[in-house]
Amino acid sequence: MESEVKEYPKFVASMRKTHTILIPSMLPFHMALFEKALLVSGYNVEIMRNEGPDVVTEGLKYVHNDTCYPALLVIGQFIDNLNHRTDHDKLVLLITQTGGGCRASNYIHLLRKALDKAGYGFIPVVSLNASNLEKDSGLKLTYSLIKKIAAAMTYGDEIMYLFNKTRSYETEAGSAKKLALDWVEKIGEQFGKKKGVSYRALRKNLNDIAKSFNALSLDLSHAIPKVGVVGEIYVKYAALGNNHLEDFLVSEHAEVMVPGLYGFILYCLYNSIYDSEFYGHGKIKKLGSKFIIWYLRRREKLMIHSMKHTKFTPMKYFSHTKDLSEGILSHGTKMGEGWLLTAEMMELVEIGYDNIICTQPFGCLPNHICGKGVMKKIKSLHPDANIVAIDYDPSATKVNQENRIKLMLAIAREKIEENEDAKL
Ligand code: SF4
Repeated sequence: MESEVKEYPKFVASMRKTHTILIPSMLPFHMALFEKALLVSGYNVEIMRNEGPDVVTEGLKYVHNDTCYPALLVIGQFIDNLNHRTDHDKLVLLITQTGGGCRASNYIHLLRKALDKAGYGFIPVVSLNASNLEKDSGLKLTYSLIKKIAAAMTYGDEIMYLFNKTRSYETEAGSAKKLALDWVEKIGEQFGKKKGVSYRALRKNLNDIAKSFNALSLDLSHAIPKVGVVGEIYVKYAALGNNHLEDFLVSEHAEVMVPGLYGFILYCLYNSIYDSEFYGHGKIKKLGSKFIIWYLRRREKLMIHSMKHTKFTPMKYFSHTKDLSEGILSHGTKMGEGWLLTAEMMELVEIGYDNIICTQPFGCLPNHICGKGVMKKIKSLHPDANIVAIDYDPSATKVNQENRIKLMLAIAREKIEENEDAKL
């Protein structure tokens, strides 16, 4: 008997005007700018902001409980959102596909299955990917849209970086967040006027953003623990995935540093070059990757230069970060966050964030290997590194996670006191 291939509803070009694309939440500043970039490119979009226990409950209801926790949360957030609205016939759901060997490439099928079971099987699902998957989609990654998304990512990374650099030291509560949101709004307005995307506009805006954060009133008189956050991309960036980890760290009087999205995108691009050189296929993809790397590196340089005349130490060039995993993990280790996770931990230690939280979702074998698996080696190279792996899954309690983080912070504070004593 021949097996039937199920036809799923498609997002076609004519739906752009009539349908709203729902997008899972992740990085708040970036997502707000991506939303605007898509809006001005002719798509109606809405970032989902629903959280709470119902998200996990819905995820557990429709996704097998040994599936990666990020998939469970993303699918749970979609179903929970759909349960609270009535415009189902005017919706499209967007999910990303990495295109690599990791299970993230297949979440789309899990989502479609969950929608079927929940009675929403008629809602089209659209994939955002750069791997030529789901080719018949009405969402087209045109050069113009890619340029806007790249600009949004550049602004998002710089705003997030400077927000994290200042929020724990502000003398006026909420001033760093207000400034960050003002910039998101201002850049969004520029996108609406077809501005803010060119190289020249980026240079001006990035310099102005850095200058404005530099002018914030900060109290830098006391040393506080500096904590870096690494891990699987969703639980690293999504407050829904990591139980608002960044807010918790700030409430504990720590400075937080979360490496930007540039690292992950450049990591994926370098991986496709590695594949081509190592396995001899994908020559056109390799050329495309080289071009995008060149394009992004020019903008990365603008971000780094924008901080030249400020009190902030800029982020490192990715070409430097990339080399830091050498001798620890091969660049062939590229499932999940692969060698990037190791390289980011090494970079954080190098720039003074030697207290590190490695966020690990349930079901994520690659990141356990490239995160937890390399901690011993990193500690042998940097004995002062204070690294803790925190697991995130439906049954892990927030209290337990926070207690483990508090223990890590206690060690960090002891180190600060020791160093201050040494200075006397
Ligand atoms: S990186 Fe981890 S959590 Fe993400 S798809 Fe792969 S195994 Fe799952």
